[in-house]
This record gives sequence, structure tokens and C-alpha cells, in this order.
Amino acid sequence: MAVVDTIRCSHCGAPIEFKPGEIIATCKYCGYTQAIETGQAFTFEHSVLFSKYDLVQVEEPIRDWMRGGFLKPSDLARKSKIVEKNLVYLPFWVVSIESKSSYKGVFERVAPAVVKDGTIEKEYDWLVLARKATEFPTREYDVPLEGKVPYDFRKIEGFAKVLNSEVDQDQAVEIAKQQIEEHHRFLVQEDVDKIIEMKTEYTVNQVVYLHAPVWFVKFEYKSELHDLLLDGATGTVIKGDIPSSGF
Ligand SMILES: [Zn+2]
Repeated sequence: MAVVDTIRCSHCGAPIEFKPGEIIATCKYCGYTQAIETGQAFTFEHSVLFSKYDLVQVEEPIRDWMRGGFLKPSDLARKSKIVEKNLVYLPFWVVSIESKSSYKGVFERVAPAVVKDGTIEKEYDWLVLARKATEFPTREYDVPLEGKVPYDFRKIEGFAKVLNSEVDQDQAVEIAKQQIEEHHRFLVQEDVDKIIEMKTEYTVNQVVYLHAPVWFVKFEYKSELHDLLLDGATGTVIKGDIPSSGF
């Protein structure tokens, strides 16, 4: 399996385990967050959202999800067995950013086609996952940012796992800009059919490092395993496999 290495926490001296690719680590004994390579203290705001549920309580929002929605088999909640529930504090960067795209394009839905220009101006708290290999539907995750508090290691459940960051703040800002550009291209295409040029300018207001509680759940229904991701802060299912009704 993955090689694990350790460094000493610059604050309390405890060993901090990390895996290849991780660049920012949080000490589980004192909550100190540091750059792995240099041991330097982390100077950005480090926030956390906590899970409302323990290992037993979390079954409630999962069963609720199984019961709701007409696309699901009617016996899903009754016949499913929850076989795995892991609470993981996933690392994210929240990039508060203003963006303005100016574009010029051709509108072809009229004859003759016309050249149009316009601007899209938006402000975002753009969420960037700080893990590279993790499959996570970031855009479907409406993270409840208003509930975030300064990171407090003492309130992290003993059974939970806190993942380190594989993306630094500068990379996160770059990723946010690329994704916003892509998103704006998509929006512009509602106004013009062909983009001739587009230029986006950004103002980064704040970058926050955030650990958010996500439950990784596996449930068994009619002897097949299915995955479900649940936001521990709100109980909302971020993504869930819906078994077919078997018609
Ligand atoms: Zn420490």
C-alpha cells in the first residue's frame, strides 16, 4: 500500500504521518498545520465544518434519502444494509474571487448572423478539492460555508480521518481560475453561438483552507454494493447510487 513517512510537528514534536504527494499536514495531537517540506507554519486561515452525526445517527439521513424520490425502489430503505460508514474530513480551498469575462461572439440564431459582445461579472466562493486522486463531485457539493469555524482538532471525532492537502494555495487559485473560465465559457454560449474572443480578469479576495466532513457510505441492496456521499454538516446526500427498480 501507500508509503507513509513521518515528520515532527514543529509545534508539539509529535510525529505527523504523511503520504507521497501531500504537501500540507495537520497534527492530530495539537491541530498545528504546517508545510511538510519546510515545517513552516501555515499562514492562511484554516477552518473546519463539523459533522452533526455520530456513527449511529448518520443512518437517519441515509434512510431518509433512501425513502424519498420516486426513482428509487420502494423497498430501498427497508432492504438496504449499510455496510460501511467512514467519516472523512476532506481538505478544500475556498477561493473568494471576483471575475469579469469580456467576450465577443457570433449569434447565429438570426439571419443574417450578428456579432455581439458582452460581459459576465460574478463573485464566487469557489471550492477546490485539495486532493488529486480523489473522485469527488465538487460542483455538486453546496458546502455550507456560513457554519465554518476556526479549525479545532479537539472536536474531530476519534473515528474520523483527516486528509492532508496535496494542493497548495497558489495551485488552488490557478485551478479556481481555470474552472471559472470554463464555467463562463459555458454561460457565454447561451448568449452567442461561437466565441470569437474572451478574456477574464480576476481579483482574489481571500483564500481559506477548509476541512469539511463527508461520510463515505457503502450500502448493500439485493446483494449489490452501492456508494453514497453525505455532507456531515447538513445531512444532505451529495451523490448516491440509485439501484435500479429491477423492472
Ligand atoms: Zn502537534
